[in-house]
Amino acid sequence: MFAALSRHQIAARPTAAKRSPRLLRKAYCSASTAESNKMASKNKKCKEIREILRAPPRHWVGNGFHVFPVFHNRAFTKEMSPWLMFDYAAPKEFKPSYERRGVGQHPHRGFETITIAFNGEVEHGDSCGNRDVIGPGDVQWMTAARGIIHEEFHSTDFQQTGGTFEMAQLWLNLPAKHKMDAPKYQPIVAKDIPVVELKVTKESDNEKVDSSKNTIRVIAGSKETYGVEGAATTHTPVELLDVRIASPAVSFDVPIPDGHNTMVFVRRGGITVGTEQKPVEQQGVALMHLGGEVLRIAATEKDTELLILAGEPIDEPIAARGPFVMNTHEEIMQANKDFMNGLMGQ
Ligand code: MN
Repeated sequence: MFAALSRHQIAARPTAAKRSPRLLRKAYCSASTAESNKMASKNKKCKEIREILRAPPRHWVGNGFHVFPVFHNRAFTKEMSPWLMFDYAAPKEFKPSYERRGVGQHPHRGFETITIAFNGEVEHGDSCGNRDVIGPGDVQWMTAARGIIHEEFHSTDFQQTGGTFEMAQLWLNLPAKHKMDAPKYQPIVAKDIPVVELKVTKESDNEKVDSSKNTIRVIAGSKETYGVEGAATTHTPVELLDVRIASPAVSFDVPIPDGHNTMVFVRRGGITVGTEQKPVEQQGVALMHLGGEVLRIAATEKDTELLILAGEPIDEPIAARGPFVMNTHEEIMQANKDFMNGLMGQ
């Protein structure tokens, strides 16, 4: 299945040959080898496309983040659950500046914010006293839960030197039973994120592929699915995968648990998805059906990069307003009241 790459200090794992046949089969939708044909009736089912959303118009968040609202009008709907919202700031040149760039103090309640830096540096501050700068490949995983006051800027160093800035911010819902937990912050640096190799769909594709250049960074995901435990601790079953595909025209299978919602975002390059191999352009997103245990992907361009967001849907009502995401309108009103009375982030 997936082999861990030693350069990222992953604990030694058994080779594919030593692992159980059940695990070996896991990455194959359909296969051409003799062994796989024997298993045909037990082949893993591919997730198929529900809909493809094209790149939406960009808007500014504060004065620092020029973002594509990737989920468009699907943000905060059950269709995307447990994911709520996804803002992507595509690579953009910023000149050196003395002005702070970003978003000053604002509250959050009821969910988690996840920031991934790809180029440049993001500085995070919150009312729990966490202050941190992340650079390319690093992730900030903030659990707002019952309430936090948050600020997000380009780092002071980056602001003064300027350069290319690229980041993503994702909002992930919490189930009702965790919405009023104490806030929490997980700083996740690049070297702590395990990397696994992408598995080619057919054995005959193997010759063309340098597996060290077709990889998944498992920001969140289970050991059962990926052979390594994702870097982040989550409240519900969630997959967050940073995928790089150097080899175009080769088909890869990415395991995603059956019944999990799955969104495939093309950060750079282009792909085809599913057994029908429908194209998804740069900054587009493919929404997949819940059924199926693997996602079949082929890049149409060299050095394609994707973000895959998946997870078990949270089957609860979503009441979202501004920076608060609760289950009912009354809880939103209470959040507003608590914020106005200075009770949030205490
Ligand atoms: Mn925020």
